[in-house]
Amino acid sequence: LMQLYVPLNFLGFVYWQINQGMIDMEQMFSLMRVNYEVRDKPGAIELAPQGAPVEVRFEDVHFGYNPDRDILKGVSFTVAAGQKVAIVGPTGSGKSTISRLLFRFYDTVSGCVLVDGHDVRDYTQHSLRAAIGVVPQDTVLFNDTIFYNIAYGRPGASVEEIEQAARLAQIHDFIITLPQGYKTKVGERGLKLSGGEKQRVAIARTILKNPRVLILDEATSALDTATEQEIGSALRSVAYDRTTLVIAHRLSTVTDADEILVLREGVIVERGSHAALLEADGVYAGMWAAQQAEQEEAVQSKTFDEVA
Ligand code: ATP
Repeated sequence: LMQLYVPLNFLGFVYWQINQGMIDMEQMFSLMRVNYEVRDKPGAIELAPQGAPVEVRFEDVHFGYNPDRDILKGVSFTVAAGQKVAIVGPTGSGKSTISRLLFRFYDTVSGCVLVDGHDVRDYTQHSLRAAIGVVPQDTVLFNDTIFYNIAYGRPGASVEEIEQAARLAQIHDFIITLPQGYKTKVGERGLKLSGGEKQRVAIARTILKNPRVLILDEATSALDTATEQEIGSALRSVAYDRTTLVIAHRLSTVTDADEILVLREGVIVERGSHAALLEADGVYAGMWAAQQAEQEEAVQSKTFDEVA
């Protein structure tokens, strides 16, 4: 029996390693390249991964990936505990860079990032990242069952907890229509899920992880209206009462944010609620008008296609 056990155990180990590799890949794709210069300082403290929502604060943050090019030029904002702040702005303005600094994939050049009143450099990286949940643009699923893919959010969670997370993420009803239900294999070698379904699996995983801070990195690609609405309500349940930072590409998804930051070339050029920013009739109002016109055009050309 021992002869059988050792290779099986080894296989399990390899499988575990592959899965680890995949989660690293997911992090790499979602929040990008890990910087090995980031280190825990001696005596670093632990941030409790679960518990009450915490405040996130950026104080005059300057950052560049290379010394010759500044990407963030004095960014300051606060996400009060349990609130939702959205960052909007053109491609390349530095939105994702802000989420990478919060996750401490890089250290700031000057200024600081604070979570629950402590500089992120004071925490162990492990505990900081355990307290932050990320719903990435493109979710990479493991070649395993749907159950495993959700359960990964919190190893040891009960079946009821996993189903409850799937319900909140609005994917449970879909899962139970599959012949093998939660035991359905997904991923490259299993059932191919649509982008929206994959994202809801990622949301269920995050609901289960129950992090104190949430980063939502919205998909760039436009989803159809029904999918967008389903994802929207799944995202609202994960973000409810949780400190949330949204990297947004479509303004329509962040109209309910407590504060919207408009980033341009690494500088916050406008900030406020959706209504206040429309009232101000500045950059945001211009972006909003442009997106509305784009959407109307899309609806009209669809109607035209249907008639034709
Ligand atoms: P998008 O809306 O397209 O996702 P973004 O606003 O999130 O864009 P960032 O990903 O934060 O933009 O990138 C800001 C700038 O930093 C870009 O010019 C980008 O090319 C540059 N950049 C991003 N990652 C790196 C890196 N690892 N090394 C060097 N430059 C980088």
